[in-house]
Amino acid sequence: MTSYDYDLFVIGAGSGGVRAARLSAAQGVRVAIAEDLYVGGTCVNAGCIPKKILVFASDFNAAFQLAPAYGWSVSSPTFNWHTLIQNKNREIGRLNNIYREILNRSGCTLIEGRAKIFDPHTVQVADKNITAERILIATGSWPFVPEFPGREFVTTSNEVFHFSDIPKRVVIVGGGYIAVELAGIFSGLGAKTELVCRGDKLLRGFDEDIRVMAGAEIEKNEVSINYSSEILHVERSSLGELKVTLNNGKEVIADRVIYATGRKPKTEDLGLESTAVQQDSDGAIMVNENFQTAQSSIFALGDVINRKALTPVALAEASHLVQHLFGQKAQPMNYDLIPTAVFSRPNIGTVGLTESQARHIYGDISIFKSHFTPLRNALGGSNERIFMKTIVDRLSDRVLGVHMVGQEAGEIIQGIAIALKAGATKAIFDSTIGVHPTVAEEFVTMREESK
Ligand code: NDP
Repeated sequence: MTSYDYDLFVIGAGSGGVRAARLSAAQGVRVAIAEDLYVGGTCVNAGCIPKKILVFASDFNAAFQLAPAYGWSVSSPTFNWHTLIQNKNREIGRLNNIYREILNRSGCTLIEGRAKIFDPHTVQVADKNITAERILIATGSWPFVPEFPGREFVTTSNEVFHFSDIPKRVVIVGGGYIAVELAGIFSGLGAKTELVCRGDKLLRGFDEDIRVMAGAEIEKNEVSINYSSEILHVERSSLGELKVTLNNGKEVIADRVIYATGRKPKTEDLGLESTAVQQDSDGAIMVNENFQTAQSSIFALGDVINRKALTPVALAEASHLVQHLFGQKAQPMNYDLIPTAVFSRPNIGTVGLTESQARHIYGDISIFKSHFTPLRNALGGSNERIFMKTIVDRLSDRVLGVHMVGQEAGEIIQGIAIALKAGATKAIFDSTIGVHPTVAEEFVTMREESK
């Protein structure tokens, strides 16, 4: 019998890798985990967590504007980027240590260095060969920036959290999650913000009404959106300003140009050529329903397999894998009804099918929509509107999709997702007593079908 140094070698200590490592170790498995950048991965260091901290910071702006209507006098508030970044760094440092501690306490060996696969059972870290019965690739993804003249002058979400100063003028390219979230952050923090989106609406793949409403509400928050536009080139002036030229001839001067044009699976220099692991045309590692690659000793999960690039999905995939390898036989992972939120200003929350998907699959559906001004803004004259939409299968009365643009949509959609997972019908929504006065109660009081 071959004896290996470890039973499981995990490459990448992000959300999925850490979860898989510590759950495996809890089953008595001998685990090593390698990380060459930051423990905790993108979510903790350059994604969800620092992003949400910056979102909280940007939300104060609207609150200051509303405050006088509620009787407060606020004498011209000022914002200090350095304080925010310092405090954010302290919190991220604390989380990095928690991750290290979790790994140590669970009995995993954390190796801080770059791991490269040498053969199906061997990984090299700093010229040292380490053998393992199984290898798990959880290396995540990395921002993708297309080729164009001036590419060297632009940055990505990776750098945003370490900008030395808040830009006064920023151009953000893309119409997806990261672009609209960063647009909300920078406009809220006072930067003149332009979004450059190649499509005619933001957020491809979301419900069409949500796309329209999100664009309109985001523009109310002082983001100027250039639809059907692309950047031709970016030049840097002797003063250090960036001159951005769009394909419609428009020129914009900015201090920063941030590309949020998607992320690609991170597989560069991983040594995959020394294995039978296969990748799709986007570079994603191909796996079966148990996250096993074409090389039977090698597994992969999270952003690197590019199914749903969301932290909670990577966590669920890791739990599933560990259960499959070291626990009782697991059911295949269920990717249905994954709720998601975009932490733009305002938030967008969504779970289940869009109207066009529901119409395509179920045919006969009913739609309930509601637009209204939130009570919080009844004083102060803000023109912000909330939009909610529920999609129902007419035959079974099951709720197929729920979508929202508005304050706290991210918080609200989590509870709605539980109801949809439980198979709730519209009759159940209707018989649920509302919590009054809340924004969320509208989901149980929408009675009138939209034509
Ligand atoms: P997305 O895939 O969400 O959006 C990419 C955007 O860039 C799209 O609008 C796309 O346009 C556009 N684009 C792609 N290529 C080009 C190009 N060559 N020129 C101009 N525009 C281009 O990617 P993100 O980077 O925003 O986020 C990556 C993933 O990370 C998300 O899909 C999500 O899974 C996850 N994420 C989740 C968050 C959350 O849960 N709140 C927050 C942040 C990220 P088009 O639509 O036309 O292709």
